Amino acid sequence: MELEDFRNRVAGFVDEVIRPNLAGWEASGEYPLELHALAAEQHILSLGQDPKGDFSDDIPRRKILIEELTRSGSQAMVMALASHFVSLSAFEQTMPDTYKKLSAQVLSGEKTLVLALTEPQAGSDLRNLRCVAEADESGAYTLSGEKSFICNGNRADYILTAALLEDKLTLFLVETRGNNIESQPIPCLGWQGLPVSYLRFNQAGAVRVGEPGKAGRILQKILLQERLNLAVMANTSAAVSFEAALDYSKERQIQGKPLFEQQTIRHRLADMHGKIELCRAYINQYIARVAQSGPDVKEVAIAKNQAVAVLEEVASQAVQIHGASGCVAGSLVERIYRDARLLGLGGGSTEIMNEMISRAL
Ligand SMILES: Cc1cc2nc3c(=O)[nH]c(=O)nc-3n(C[C@H](O)[C@H](O)[C@H](O)COP(=O)(O)OP(=O)(O)OC[C@H]3O[C@@H](n4cnc5c(N)ncnc54)[C@H](O)[C@@H]3O)c2cc1C
Repeated sequence: MELEDFRNRVAGFVDEVIRPNLAGWEASGEYPLELHALAAEQHILSLGQDPKGDFSDDIPRRKILIEELTRSGSQAMVMALASHFVSLSAFEQTMPDTYKKLSAQVLSGEKTLVLALTEPQAGSDLRNLRCVAEADESGAYTLSGEKSFICNGNRADYILTAALLEDKLTLFLVETRGNNIESQPIPCLGWQGLPVSYLRFNQAGAVRVGEPGKAGRILQKILLQERLNLAVMANTSAAVSFEAALDYSKERQIQGKPLFEQQTIRHRLADMHGKIELCRAYINQYIARVAQSGPDVKEVAIAKNQAVAVLEEVASQAVQIHGASGCVAGSLVERIYRDARLLGLGGGSTEIMNEMISRAL
């Protein structure tokens, strides 16, 4: 499928399937899992390619998918339908046969796969993880320990996770059904409609992914992908929020003329637009360069931090320009304002990104 056709396909899916149902999914706390199969039918989960084919990641197509899903106004939908690539690429690096099996199941919407790293005492500092893996005489592994803030953790079919195997940080694949895992919901500020969970593994069966002690190296690679995805999501969310504020300022009549005619509002919109465009240019320039010279830790961190900072400012200003109507639950700018707050934490927090940038200076 050509890139523009793929963009139109995702935009159509957002218009017909996602946008009309968002409020209901937010109210119930979860979107239906059938959404994965519906998206897969249109080859959306596989970036417009044949899911049974030899799937390999493609940054420009992933960017299109994230942009169009973000245009729904809900970042939860991006986390739901575009975050599988990050976990799949861990298997691509380490276990070609498992990768083939999992990607066929996940890209066809038959199964879901999530990444569970965070623990109650360890988010940014993964060296402090306590989840433990043990091998029995046959070489099979079991995991014991906790994970927290896991998107779709209560209902995913597969979990890619990290645990200590003889004190070495190692990745594992956990099949969830009937596998000694307890879960509890954690209602969160944003990304509503996407259930977030606390999990406890009680000697849950697991398969080792990659060599013992190599989790750090694999995660380094896949988290670069995650941060770029989040930068694209933040930049697009800012653009959507800005467009809503611009439209509103032209419609809203104050003192007999559109709000946009007030210089202070017009200049604020100009400033928001400029910041969004600068971030977009930086992200696009980075994506063009990755194809030539590979990923760059510092540049991805800059892209994420700047896109998130601009989003936080724009989302807040968009609510301000809308006045009280920007505070109505479920309105576009209200939802983006809520979601915006999460991005400075997920995928490596703002402070951790600044640490990476400063080390490269
Ligand atoms: C809605 C939501 C969904 C999530 N989904 C997932 C998921 O699916 N899978 C998953 O594994 N995790 C998930 N997370 C967890 C997320 O990745 C963590 O919140 C993040 O890694 C930060 O960890 P923490 O919350 O433990 O904060 P902490 O690491 O305790 O940090 C607290 C504060 O200290 C700052 N800080 C930390 N270290 C330093 C330092 N060295 N220098 C200066 N400041 C520092 C942080 O930036 C932060 O501001 C999710 C979180 C949320 C809110």
